Parts: sequence; structure tokens; C-alpha cells
Amino acid sequence: MPELPEVETSVRGLERVLLGRQLVRVEPRRADLRRAMPVDLRQRLTGARVTGLGRRAKYGLIETDRDDTLIFHLGMSGSWRINPQDIGAHDHLILETDDGVSLSLNDPRRFGSLDLVLTDEVEQWPPFKALGPEPIGEALSASWFKRAFAGRSAAVKLLLLDQRIVAGLGNIYACEALYRAGISPLRAGGSLTLVRLKRLARAIPEVLEEAIEAGGSSLRNFAQPNGELGYFSKEFAVYDREGEPCACGGTVKRIVQGGRSTFYCPRCQR
Ligand SMILES: [Zn+2]
Repeated sequence: MPELPEVETSVRGLERVLLGRQLVRVEPRRADLRRAMPVDLRQRLTGARVTGLGRRAKYGLIETDRDDTLIFHLGMSGSWRINPQDIGAHDHLILETDDGVSLSLNDPRRFGSLDLVLTDEVEQWPPFKALGPEPIGEALSASWFKRAFAGRSAAVKLLLLDQRIVAGLGNIYACEALYRAGISPLRAGGSLTLVRLKRLARAIPEVLEEAIEAGGSSLRNFAQPNGELGYFSKEFAVYDREGEPCACGGTVKRIVQGGRSTFYCPRCQR
């Protein structure tokens, strides 16, 4: 499943081929993904020039000179392919630029989405309105967590997956950040001291930025946006490493919290 580093990597890959280009062909190949695609997608995007790309949480943003922003979500299995060799049943949107590059949005499980929003109204778009700060950049701080966690008895791991507290962090990187900060995922959010929250606010962007640097973590069904089939694999400290030794001499344990697997080391995460 594409996590934030894969989305960021996709946006950076798309930027290389789309920025400043005109879209000469826009071909939706079905009416819906997880929900209906905009019915006027082809009409509004054909002939438009791409003026900017960006990311918010796990959504990618493609802005055009017609004041529209195409917002994509890769769902469980989505990826962009550049100059795909063949177009199949899982290619749901084809774009072609004025310099002859073609792109396809491939999504076998169709949990992704495509929306067109007026660029001025992107901040107010319902899925974005309630989002908390971005997990990379300068937005996270110990004082933000202090306020967001105040009085909360829920486990810190669950609070980190709440989009209103941190936007788009995801299960893998919540585990990795807690490990790096030395905080038990079971600890009540409201009980964490400011010193430990500082470590957490630092660990979150660190683990994500390292993964972005590695080109995104290597998970099934996800190809790099330059059209390569291979994808960098990323070593995780605790994620998916149940029973393996931790650097501290302890053993990585798996528990289930809120229906999701949590991996952690009970010896060095307190
Ligand atoms: Zn350990």
C-alpha cells in the first residue's frame, strides 16, 4: 500500500514530466474508482497546462492554468506509469503531454480516487478541511502534540493515525517513529512528557524523509513513477520484523491496535 513517501516520490516523478507541459490527451477509461470520477474530467483537463504539483497528506495535487487542481489518491494499489508499454484493464486514466510523454494511472484494486477541485478551494475541500499538520516540514512540534494529546487516554500509536492530529503518517511510519523516539505504542497520549513529545516530533519527519530519500518503501504493486518495475527496498527497524532481534538486544513484538498491526520493542520503547 502506497504510504506518504511513495506518494511524495510519485509527485516528484510526475513533476519532472508534467510541469509546464500541456495535456493534449486526457482519457478516463472508466467512470469510477473508489467513487465516481468527475464527469467533466476530459473536458476540463484537455488543453490545460500544468502549473504546479504538490502533496497534501497522502493525496497528490496537479494544478493547471485553468484554475483546476486534479487531486489523486493511490488507495491500496495505485501507481503512475510513465510511457507504459501496454495499456491494460487496470489503467484507468491516460494523460498525454504536448511533448509526447504518456502517463497512466494504474490501480488494480481501485481504492484510489480522482477529483477535480477549483485551485482556490483546495484548502476547503472536505477531505482536507479537518486534516492536522503535515508530518514533514516544520509543522510538527512538541507543543502541538501537547495540545492534541491533552487529556487523551488513548494509546499514542492510535492517536498518531488520527488524521486530525497528523496528516497522512500511516501505520508503518507511526511504528518506526515511535521506535526511534523510544516511546511504547501502548503509552497513553496524554501521559507523555514534553521531553518525550520533542523526541516524537523530531522522529516523525526523520523516518519519513529517510524513506523519501530512498525513493519510497518497496511494497507490493507499487512501481516507481519513471516507469521502472523495480522499486527501492527500505529496511525498517521494527515494522514487519516480529520475532527479530532489536539493536538493543530485545526482540521485536507484534500486537494489534485498532485492527492494525503494531511492531515495537518492549525493551527500548517505554
Ligand atoms: Zn530494542
